[in-house]
Amino acid sequence: MPGWIDTHCHLDAPEFDADRDRVRERAAQAGVRHLVIPAVARAHWDAVVQLARRHGDSYALGIHPLYTPQAREEDIAQLRHMLEQLRDDPHLVAVGEIGLDFFVPGLDAGRQAWFYEQQIALAREFGLPVILHVRKSSDHLLKVLRARPVAGGIAHAFNGSAQQAGAFVDLGFKLGFGGAVTYDRALKLRELAATLALESLVLETDAPDIPPHWLYATAGQRAAGQPQGRNTPAELPRIAAVIAQLRGLTPQALAEATGSNARAALRGLPALG
Ligand SMILES: [Zn+2]
Repeated sequence: MPGWIDTHCHLDAPEFDADRDRVRERAAQAGVRHLVIPAVARAHWDAVVQLARRHGDSYALGIHPLYTPQAREEDIAQLRHMLEQLRDDPHLVAVGEIGLDFFVPGLDAGRQAWFYEQQIALAREFGLPVILHVRKSSDHLLKVLRARPVAGGIAHAFNGSAQQAGAFVDLGFKLGFGGAVTYDRALKLRELAATLALESLVLETDAPDIPPHWLYATAGQRAAGQPQGRNTPAELPRIAAVIAQLRGLTPQALAEATGSNARAALRGLPALG
């Protein structure tokens, strides 16, 4: 087996404070050889850099749309400064996680758009790909990317239409699939995961978010005392097995294809081999 790459894992999240190194170790034991850790806010940037270096993983630096309410305009200047300082760091693979979220209520759309556009400008300045958060926002994200193209990247946890998928692919993006495809009722998403051109697909857990169905506890189960299972990067091979089955591929063939797709999408990911 060539090993798996988790292209989107928030290993710096507080959910992993108690056992972060153990979580990374269990992922390695499960065959997950490389993680991409996207930052969500300025307060996380240093930690993400150190964490990725410690385990030989990769990181992206950016401001996530859900963190724009507390972000400050000067964070953009600081991001630029860090990208300049770290431009030769082989562990730096993208600007991210950036994007727009038109699903979560109460976010200022104009403010989100400002941070998104500023970070697209930085990605262009430094020639870096981007890791995109796309939630009910494909068309707006695409409009900005068409006007100001970047060096590709990943539309993570993709859940749009086949047409929107094609538009991201045309702009040089790969699409990230993870725990959401493990739910039988996710018919449209499973259809897309089964039919999308293989060279456009990358794998992710988004841990600790988006638990696969075997970790998910319904509201009723939680009320009865069953805790929500914590998603970790070690779930990637099992999520991948679902996608491999949907596509009629062996896990090995899927690992090889998605690994080379991830290397094509992000600069400088190591070859596993
Ligand atoms: Zn994320």
